[in-house]
Amino acid sequence: MKELLAETAVRAARYAAAIGDRKVAPRSEDIARLEALGGTLPENPCDPAEVLALLDDVGSPATVATTGGRYFGFVIGGTLPAALAANWLAGAWDQNAAMQVMSPVAAKVEEIVREWTLDLLGLPSSSGVGFVTCTTMANFSGLAAARSALLQHSGWNVEEDGMFEAPAIRVVVGEEVHVSVLRALTMLGLGRSRVITVPADGQGRMRADALPVLDEHTIVCIQAGNVNTGAFDPAKEICARARDAGAWVHVDGAFGLWGAVSPLYAPLLEGVSAADSWAIDCHKWLNVPYDSGIVVVREPEHLRTALSAGSAAYLTQSAGREPWQYTPDASRRARGIELWAAMRSLGRSGLREMIERNCRQARLFADHLRAAGFTVLNDVVLNQVLVSFGSADQTRRVIAEIQEDGTCWCGGTIWHGHTAMRISVSCWATTDKDVEQSVAAMIRIAKSVRAG
Ligand SMILES: *Cc1c(COP(=O)(O)O)cnc(C)c1O
Repeated sequence: MKELLAETAVRAARYAAAIGDRKVAPRSEDIARLEALGGTLPENPCDPAEVLALLDDVGSPATVATTGGRYFGFVIGGTLPAALAANWLAGAWDQNAAMQVMSPVAAKVEEIVREWTLDLLGLPSSSGVGFVTCTTMANFSGLAAARSALLQHSGWNVEEDGMFEAPAIRVVVGEEVHVSVLRALTMLGLGRSRVITVPADGQGRMRADALPVLDEHTIVCIQAGNVNTGAFDPAKEICARARDAGAWVHVDGAFGLWGAVSPLYAPLLEGVSAADSWAIDCHKWLNVPYDSGIVVVREPEHLRTALSAGSAAYLTQSAGREPWQYTPDASRRARGIELWAAMRSLGRSGLREMIERNCRQARLFADHLRAAGFTVLNDVVLNQVLVSFGSADQTRRVIAEIQEDGTCWCGGTIWHGHTAMRISVSCWATTDKDVEQSVAAMIRIAKSVRAG
């Protein structure tokens, strides 16, 4: 065991050290070599060291270099050194984080991270917090709490009696709602097509003046950080109107909520803390390993009720917070450990520095690209940049060639009818030199595409 782990550490360190020198996307020949992992399942055991060697030799070159600082696709973070190392140790611990009695350390760490997160993001300190796999599941869990609370208010127990014949719930979303919210509504029996959609402005912000009349049967889903523009829905106005009407506000704040840690970006989030539930991603901008998200619900009992499992004699209830009462899962890995390590290693100022640096780097991209004659389509308010390199066809070609070139990696989107390249700066490892190197490749490629 000791030799195997030491050898694995050497391999992992070698991978990490070389990440900046390789193409960001794997080469097609490296992807083709993945076949070597297959074949028929061996009949007999083999040395674990050989298994690891095969995995490293064949698998490592076929990874996407998302940890290297020049990956700007989707919204994808890397992994902070302390978080990665904690992930290894936690792997050796192999704790089941479901219940206190299964892992006191996992349960305690969750309590600590719960407090730190609410403090960092300025959310109500008595909120219930669940450690889930991703923002999709955080949206699911937050909206399950909303469904439970609103139906309970109408005298209906959805956990016991289900959705058939339940009083209607109206769900209001913005035109720019993230697909994960619609997916959560689908799974909750609330339906993704029966939502009321509120138009958005040119940056993708829900127009508060176009909100329908709200009431106590309504869930309003707002967004803190549009996946294309980084823009924030006007939470202050929407939450105030919802509060007056008794409606529930759920915030999809996957990456945008982390803006709250900086006084430069906190104003974008004004009023967000007045909502009822929040979904947050940690594997994006907090830069911890996959899979990691957080659901926060102002009144913890709604989350507990919505996710309650019923009882079984062998499942014990200790005093205090039982982790599994706040997640849809029972058995799960102790993902709170990496959050603890990330927060403990960065501290408040380190986290703020990381967020502010990535936002500044997004503006650096925008400035360079504009100066080179290309069109930035959004107001760069956070860490997202949308750029057009000319016609839709030219932009698509530039994106394909950038991906092929391998200096960096960006994906595409269509923003208000314009084909655009998305640049999302979300990685702790991104340096200004990475930005300069990437932007130089983008401009070189875009000019050559434009030249014909
Ligand atoms: C990424 C993202 C999600 C989904 O997050 P997952 O962790 O991939 O489930 C939801 N909403 C927004 C705004 C996002 O950026």
